Amino acid sequence: MTAETISVSIVGSGPGDPDLLTVKALRLIQEADVVVYDLLVSDKILDLIPEGVSRVFAGKAARKHFMPQREINELLVTLAAGGNKVVRLKGGDPFIFGRGSEEAEHLSKHGVSFEVVPGITASAGCTVYSGIPLTHRGLAKGVRFITGHLQEGKTLDLNWKSLADPDTTLVIYMGLTNIGQISGKLIEAGLPGDTPTAAIHKGTTPEQQTILTTLSEIPACVEKAGLKAPTLIVIGRVVTLAKDIAWRARPKDCDLESHG
Ligand code: SAH
Repeated sequence: MTAETISVSIVGSGPGDPDLLTVKALRLIQEADVVVYDLLVSDKILDLIPEGVSRVFAGKAARKHFMPQREINELLVTLAAGGNKVVRLKGGDPFIFGRGSEEAEHLSKHGVSFEVVPGITASAGCTVYSGIPLTHRGLAKGVRFITGHLQEGKTLDLNWKSLADPDTTLVIYMGLTNIGQISGKLIEAGLPGDTPTAAIHKGTTPEQQTILTTLSEIPACVEKAGLKAPTLIVIGRVVTLAKDIAWRARPKDCDLESHG
């Protein structure tokens, strides 16, 4: 399949900083006829869409699906059938908790030619911009990416025993709403309550906030800081390094004692 025949490019835009876009992502945005973008795509990245290119907001936030996934899928097929060069722009990486693969399945089923452009996923971008390495010799031998999102009225069905491993860094996407349950279950499964934990809000953007605390105190800390989505939770010994090697915004310790 040559570049000329591709109708839809499913493109990861990274966690927010426009400098983290790939060269390919930028080129495709500049050559598009229409860009269909998600809520997580930062304003600075939307500013790079040339004037005259149509934009369609597909939305998507927990419990606030502005456009149901089925409609997004159908829209991509319709736009492609109309002869448009479509960029489907997504936050982070399209294939990590991004439903990009569902869109690809749909396009494939309908015979629409497509390509997928990887993006820097939140767990890579937000941690690096907070001075937290996902692995570090002697502190973490591996990483696991987990979704903390669940369908309304359901409890999180995760294998807590397997997740409660002090040698593995845990990165939780969409974990804010259920952080109480996540923290409680991990501690119950044996992960020490004093395991270093960070909450990173709007990582890589000028509004980035990184809060350092422990697994047992993370629910109270995110509440006290009033953190909203998008926030990434990182659990593991590697979080302690932020104190020494944070190079961008200074991380803040969560202080549950102070008022105001
Ligand atoms: N495909 C995306 C993830 C989509 S799920 C990716 O690869 O990054 C949405 C979740 O990602 C948010 O709830 C949050 O947990 C995380 N996230 C995405 N961008 C973020 C950012 N800039 N700062 C903090 N968390 C972010």
